[in-house]
Amino acid sequence: MVNTNDALKEIELYAEENNVPIMTKEGITFLTNYIKKYNIKRILEIGAAIGYSSIMMALVDEEIEITTIERDEKRYLEAVKNIKKFHLEERINLIYKDAFDVNLTDQYDLVFIDAAKAQNIKFFEKFSKNLKPKGTIITDNMNFHGLVDKEPEEIKSRNLRALVRKLKDYATFLQENKKFDTEFLDIGDGIAISRPI
Ligand code: SAH
Ligand code: MG
Repeated sequence: MVNTNDALKEIELYAEENNVPIMTKEGITFLTNYIKKYNIKRILEIGAAIGYSSIMMALVDEEIEITTIERDEKRYLEAVKNIKKFHLEERINLIYKDAFDVNLTDQYDLVFIDAAKAQNIKFFEKFSKNLKPKGTIITDNMNFHGLVDKEPEEIKSRNLRALVRKLKDYATFLQENKKFDTEFLDIGDGIAISRPI
């Protein structure tokens, strides 16, 4: 059996060395506490990366089942390895595909959106169909490393400016959404919590 703390540290170190944008400590602590508080058992995650957040969520309790999607081969393979290390392959169903090519019929208590930030509206629209009536959609990186608060002129790269504009559009989309109520929290890299009205 692996030592959980050591194995988690190893994943965190791999993420740092390979520039894999896993959730911050503050963000993951909030997410796992939310799962505990609302007794969430069925989770769909968009953007597995190397499996860090799905492993952390699965470790909350033994009844939790997660489906998570990753399109990058290298990260997917690393996630497979990490999930095996924690003996969580029975409870974490990892799908190696582009999320837009994945069609699920199951309903989830929580949909966690943490993939390509420019596509957030599309992810939200597609996967809100897989949300239980009293479920929650949580979106990570709403602040995108503090860039969302900056003036466009302050952001040098054109691609980054476009990305930040998309994130602002997503925030507006959530604010104006008639079917969901959204709370924006300045936790970790910025978290949005959306619940059906
Ligand atoms: N949730 C992870 C971090 C995810 S990083 C954690 O906190 O541990 C975002 C990941 O989403 C990247 O690995 C990227 O390859 C993946 N991704 C982006 N767009 C995607 C898409 N359309 N389908 C599947 N995966 C996608
Ligand atoms: Mg993230």
